Amino acid sequence: MSSDTAPLSGTPRTTLRRHRDRAVTDRARLYEVLDAGLICHLGVVADGAPLVLPTAYGRDGDTLYLHGSSANGAFLAADGRRVCVTVTHMDGLVAARSVFSHSVNYRSAVVFGAATVVSDSDERLHALELITDHLIPGRWAVARQPTKKEMAATAVLSVPLAEASVKVRTGMPKDEQEDYDLDVWAGVLPIAVTFGEPLPDPLLRPGTELPPHIRDRAGY
Ligand SMILES: Cc1cc2nc3c(=O)[nH]c(=O)nc-3n(C[C@H](O)[C@H](O)[C@H](O)COP(=O)(O)OP(=O)(O)OC[C@H]3O[C@@H](n4cnc5c(N)ncnc54)[C@H](O)[C@@H]3O)c2cc1C
Repeated sequence: MSSDTAPLSGTPRTTLRRHRDRAVTDRARLYEVLDAGLICHLGVVADGAPLVLPTAYGRDGDTLYLHGSSANGAFLAADGRRVCVTVTHMDGLVAARSVFSHSVNYRSAVVFGAATVVSDSDERLHALELITDHLIPGRWAVARQPTKKEMAATAVLSVPLAEASVKVRTGMPKDEQEDYDLDVWAGVLPIAVTFGEPLPDPLLRPGTELPPHIRDRAGY
């Protein structure tokens, strides 16, 4: 069974108890949710208290890579410890007839794993390329490569995708039967992440054209 088709682990921790119908156990859907996200939230226990921080990330197969400053407290706390990483997409605001039934359409992934601060220099470089290209595909190839000093200032954290869950809500509000007679508008307000028109840095060297990978990312 390839990793694309392997079902997500059904551990007690990753088994949805609430709205089990929203569980997605297809590993390919996990990849879709992760690959479509821009940022993740890294949850660690640091100095005995929970800490959740947003970071950029990239994915290589069943490994998630996060990067930060080598002085990043969350990464230092995470090294060799169990962490939780989430990626969330909001696809719509669901306005129901009753206040109680309001909801959100979403796709979200929750990943549990033992994190490791990566020390191998080739893997670190590979991870940084993945993270860079995750945000702007094609960027790594055209931007100046990191110096030794910049690499020393950068920490890379790897988290295996061994234990993960995906939850998805779609569709219209689910009101109580008697509320469908109410004269209250109900429906979905869709949400989409879009990029605006690229803004050139005023300090660009004259004649520097907008490159295709930026145009592609912006959806032109
Ligand atoms: C944008 C957004 C807004 C939300 N707003 C609310 C809200 O206002 N109130 C509310 O109660 N819930 C909200 N949820 C759902 C929330 O994330 C939880 O799924 C829900 O609260 C159930 O929590 P629980 O601890 O009872 O879950 P359980 O079903 O007991 O969780 C068991 C396991 O299921 C998995 N799991 C649970 N939730 C998710 C998830 N969202 N994505 C992936 N895996 C998951 C995890 O592995 C978890 O350990 C929202 C979700 C999203 C994405």
